[in-house]
Amino acid sequence: MTNKNKLLFAKIPSVDRLLMTQVLEEVLASYPRPLALTAINQVLDGLREKIKRGEITEEEPELIIESVSNQVAKEVELISAPSLRPLINATGIVVHTNLGRSILAEKALEKFRPIGGGYSNLEYNLDQGKRGSRYTHVEGILKELTSAEAAMVVNNNAAAVLISLETLAKGREVVVSRGQLVEIGGSFRIPAVMSKSGAKMVEVGTTNKTHLWDYEEVIGPDTALLLKVHTSNYQIVGFTEEVPLTELVKLGRRYGIPVMEDLGSGCFVDFSKYGVLKEPPVQEAIAQGADLVTFSGDKLLGGPQNGIILGRKDIIEAIKKNPLNRALRIDKLTLLALEETLRLYRDESVAIKEIPTLRMILQPYRSLNKKAERLLKLIGVVTTKNFSVELIDGNSRPGGGALPLSELPSRLLCLVPQKTSSKSMERWLRANDPPVITRVENDRVLLDVRTIQERELKTVAEAVKGLAEIII
Ligand SMILES: *Cc1c(COP(=O)(O)O)cnc(C)c1O
Repeated sequence: MTNKNKLLFAKIPSVDRLLMTQVLEEVLASYPRPLALTAINQVLDGLREKIKRGEITEEEPELIIESVSNQVAKEVELISAPSLRPLINATGIVVHTNLGRSILAEKALEKFRPIGGGYSNLEYNLDQGKRGSRYTHVEGILKELTSAEAAMVVNNNAAAVLISLETLAKGREVVVSRGQLVEIGGSFRIPAVMSKSGAKMVEVGTTNKTHLWDYEEVIGPDTALLLKVHTSNYQIVGFTEEVPLTELVKLGRRYGIPVMEDLGSGCFVDFSKYGVLKEPPVQEAIAQGADLVTFSGDKLLGGPQNGIILGRKDIIEAIKKNPLNRALRIDKLTLLALEETLRLYRDESVAIKEIPTLRMILQPYRSLNKKAERLLKLIGVVTTKNFSVELIDGNSRPGGGALPLSELPSRLLCLVPQKTSSKSMERWLRANDPPVITRVENDRVLLDVRTIQERELKTVAEAVKGLAEIII
């Protein structure tokens, strides 16, 4: 170490001296001592690193005790703040996996306090006074909504696919089209899940075309399952052919082999009725005779994170008995939110109003335009040289790997940089409390009102006004 660095190191205030400062005395009055010590050590470590890197060279004001104690106080606040925070989604991507996918319906939120804060009949049969099953709370309504013979739920759809394959096809063969070897974000890939389940994947057809005879050709004594995967996040267009589920079911029946469809997003509502592109509803797959159907509960369905498995009673019973099921089982907080979400689907007109994911996807342009105008009015006149504000037309996306080609016409608040850059505006809004997450396109910051909740408009307006006032 150089002599100069030695001198600087000696200037770093000691822990004891820091603890005696007024600032840290105040900190210690409201925070636990170990937390303050952790913060002190982090700040001091940071200073040592800076000295080593030569970033503190002269008589640096950073080493003065007042400055260090203030840094410690800030660090204490940072460490003690919750990590999981609410934020405002202004990206226009409705089912945004990084931002928590679906917002829960009010009806679901109301149940958290009584069920989460008290004991419940989670696994208790109230009629018989003995142990019950946690699946009973949603099995009935899932059957009612989809006409499936049996139903169960697990932690997420990845788990639903894994446990289904493991139960039906471990050590045996699963036939799947080369055009359906889907990868979705977060490392879920059909071939990888297949190998984890212990099933042997038999790929048939080509990327763009798979025929019924491709499947039939490979069926043998070891074939355990015919799998169809809904290509939820992409579409192969042009010279293409896929075998419809009904055909696959006929083939499966002929050979006595079950057919499973991983629907990915899964929804109960036919979006095409409302002028949005169609995503195959779960009920259709069941009506077409799939022996097993899996899908997510928090994509287009708009519930909490979970994976739903519907299908033949004997298969569902076998999956329930699989020891993996215990490892993948659904938690009670998820279950209560799922049950309440499902109950809303009993009346579709209620579902599309009260399930935020559906409400946002189906919000019409004219109502979005009004919302955007309300936002603009709340912002008022901004006299800033930082940027200019205007409303523009643009598109939102359903997200969650669903309806990949669907663009939903929307109205956007557009901040055009003048003295500042779109990147720094994006960063500034992200650093707001609560953070406002935006989209940057063509050097403009876009705020899509579709995913901004009515109650958040004022906060967003305040953040934009704040951005107008900062000195760049
Ligand atoms: C999203 C998706 C999954 C995984 O679902 P999670 O709920 O995220 O675990 C599996 N298969 C397909 C086709 C999907 O789109």
